[in-house]
Amino acid sequence: MPPRHIAILGGGLTAKTTGRLGLQHRTRPASRRPRLCSPRRRPAHSPTVVKLRPRAGVLDPPPPGSPIRSSPPPKSSPAAKNRYLHVPGTPGIYKIPGPRLSYLWSELRFFIQPGINFELVRGWNRPEGVLDESLESFLTRRGHAITARVLGSAIGHGIYAADARLLSVRAAFPKLWELEEKGKGRILWYLLTRGKKAREEEKQKADEEQRQYQLGDVPKLMDGVSVYSFRDGMGTLADALGRAVAKNPNIRMLPGTEVTGLRFDDEHGFEISTDRTNPLLPSHIVSALPLPALAKLIPDSHPLPYLTTNPASSVTAINLVFPGTKIFPRGFGDTLAPGEGITKVTVMMGGPHRLREGDTALPVVLAHLQYHLNRRAPLPTPLVTRTWQHKECIPTPLPGHLERMKKLKEALDGQGWEGRMEVVGAGVRGVSLGDCVESGRGVGSRWA
Ligand SMILES: Cc1cc2nc3c(=O)[nH]c(=O)nc-3n(C[C@H](O)[C@H](O)[C@H](O)COP(=O)(O)OP(=O)(O)OC[C@H]3O[C@@H](n4cnc5c(N)ncnc54)[C@H](O)[C@@H]3O)c2cc1C
Repeated sequence: MPPRHIAILGGGLTAKTTGRLGLQHRTRPASRRPRLCSPRRRPAHSPTVVKLRPRAGVLDPPPPGSPIRSSPPPKSSPAAKNRYLHVPGTPGIYKIPGPRLSYLWSELRFFIQPGINFELVRGWNRPEGVLDESLESFLTRRGHAITARVLGSAIGHGIYAADARLLSVRAAFPKLWELEEKGKGRILWYLLTRGKKAREEEKQKADEEQRQYQLGDVPKLMDGVSVYSFRDGMGTLADALGRAVAKNPNIRMLPGTEVTGLRFDDEHGFEISTDRTNPLLPSHIVSALPLPALAKLIPDSHPLPYLTTNPASSVTAINLVFPGTKIFPRGFGDTLAPGEGITKVTVMMGGPHRLREGDTALPVVLAHLQYHLNRRAPLPTPLVTRTWQHKECIPTPLPGHLERMKKLKEALDGQGWEGRMEVVGAGVRGVSLGDCVESGRGVGSRWA
């Protein structure tokens, strides 16, 4: 049944991308006042039909006065080139070495080299029938336990705020799994020796993916830039998408409205109750809610599997602005507005480590930083401190996640749901902004 009236649940990046790219350009009025979501109860067959019309997704070029702060550091700057790692149990941070001569005297080589040596000689060693495993198990199997523990945990913490022993390698780092297959077991060897043809194919694929987006002036704006920040934080992206969605007369947004229930309705398809409006009566639903939030809404008559299998990390982010620019090693922290003599760093706490009361108090945070920087003298008092608590904000896909999401999709296509609800968002496809945008952009293609 083609959609007549679609409700998008959620107010994050995925929901807004769904409205902006996934559905907006496939919609046009079929009658007087069509919309994707209406809070009012209407008689059956009321003029709320949305016709689907396929078109490529188009992003507006950035408005004048770019939200990206001026003069982001170029690729040659220390902030772009230098990455540091703290190894638990040792004070200070180590610069992650690149493939240069300086690797020979980098302290981190003691942790990295065993992984490289074993990766190069091990060959194919994926046990038969293994369809997924944790990031740490993958890195240990391919390389060495020391490398896996030090690098794996840094990658797991840095990207997913999660324990590398729990994180599904296939869901979180599908490229690694793919490269293992392409290199018949030897990832590094494959990367170093793959021929011109393989490189060209990779470039072609990347170009093709990029062509699906109209990027406006963004490539020019970002030319030579590798590190950048938004003047008003990452929310800038979701806010801009929200403004674009709001301009679509087919879409009614209900900000600040909580969905409190969902049930099947013989006449319309679904009935959604909220804390603020009359019931909504869509024929189709896109859920971009966190999966555990969706689980609470699903009626017992139509259960869906695996919505609560994965845990989620809570993160406390603390922004600190220090006077001076020489407090940290070169490139650590972000020198804002050169000439103004201040440095901004963000401390992320929590993730797999449950925080206790007092752990995020400023003196404790500064003591951590002092230890991480191996500084004798205490740090200066920050000029600005901002603390953000993000509760259960980043889902951790456990091994087997892809298989489970396949089964969830089968259930959504199966009896009862009949493909009338799509479930997207960070908990399904991946947590990065890119994954969320892709996830929202792909919505509705099957409903044409
Ligand atoms: C601190 C932090 C730093 C990050 N840094 C990066 C980074 O540097 N790069 C990167 O690529 N990604 C980063 N991410 C990840 C990325 O921001 C998220 O994965 C992404 O924003 C998730 O978007 P989403 O729309 O899928 O989910 P969410 O943003 O979680 O949206 C879900 C929405 O559902 C709403 N909701 C929940 N229950 C209900 C209900 N019952 N009724 C109505 N609405 C409901 C919520 O209010 C929310 O608006 C970071 C995430 C965090 C938390």
